[in-house]
Amino acid sequence: MPETALVELLVGFACNNNCKYCSFGTETRNRNRKTCEIKQSILEAAKKKAEIIGFTGGEPTIRRDIIELVEFAEKHGFRTIRIQTNGRMLSNKGFARKIISAGANYFKITVNAHKAKIHDMLSQVPGSFSQTIKGIKNVKSMNRIVEVNILVNKQNYKFLPQTVKFLIGLGISQFTIIYPTYIGNAFKNKEEIAVSLGEAVPFIREALRIAEDYNLDKAVTVNIPPCFLPERASNELNSLKTKVIGPEFSVHLDEKMKKEKVKLPQCKKCKFSNLCPGIRRDYVKVFGAKDVKPVPGKKIASLKDLH
Ligand code: SF4
Repeated sequence: MPETALVELLVGFACNNNCKYCSFGTETRNRNRKTCEIKQSILEAAKKKAEIIGFTGGEPTIRRDIIELVEFAEKHGFRTIRIQTNGRMLSNKGFARKIISAGANYFKITVNAHKAKIHDMLSQVPGSFSQTIKGIKNVKSMNRIVEVNILVNKQNYKFLPQTVKFLIGLGISQFTIIYPTYIGNAFKNKEEIAVSLGEAVPFIREALRIAEDYNLDKAVTVNIPPCFLPERASNELNSLKTKVIGPEFSVHLDEKMKKEKVKLPQCKKCKFSNLCPGIRRDYVKVFGAKDVKPVPGKKIASLKDLH
């Protein structure tokens, strides 16, 4: 495997949703990369022999040049072209067909819940749930991969098992359950959306159990340290081999995430302490460090010992 398997192009911050848990704030919405800059990044990714190119934002599908950019990536040899999206633009069958014909073949679509009321309240756009679900159905009908991202928050965590079941009913077999970072909108809206890991984990566990029962292709978590979900430690501690290129930055995701985490005094007693970079600083800022309980046991020396 090359050191960078996935190059994620953050094309800018403009978005047609305004999700309450978004890690960007509204003040950044007008920072968007130029077409030529993104093409330059695609060429760099091709040079690095990355296997997958991803377009993310903000919302990449609202860019006027998105078809041109996807075609450019396809022309430069990328066989997996991933679009991370809220899925609303894909509700237009003509647009879905166009972006797929251009070469996009993997869609990572965020769904907030199994019900419009919760989804739309979180996206702050009435009608967005029905567009997102229509987008998923359109892409599935064109036989392309759909993976669903679910951002865990106070409004949806108790419904995670129902949400996973609802999405399985739509033919989804790949899930990423993400614990949010409390920066940007998410920090601003923390009273309304923040739920501690201690409270959320039983529901996350149940959602993962359902995914196992159905023998799905993928059900992973992001931002949940092993002390909260030790049975998933290898999932959380493995290298992501991802480079993110955005407006005025280019960074390896592992390094970025490491910098955003902190080791707590209790981490010294934890069996994962040699491998775990700690817990996110923004989590400690919102919830304190009390619910971070070290996992007892013999220290694990290498990732190989987790498999
Ligand atoms: S090292 Fe700290 S943050 Fe990591 S799993 Fe152990 S207690 Fe949790």
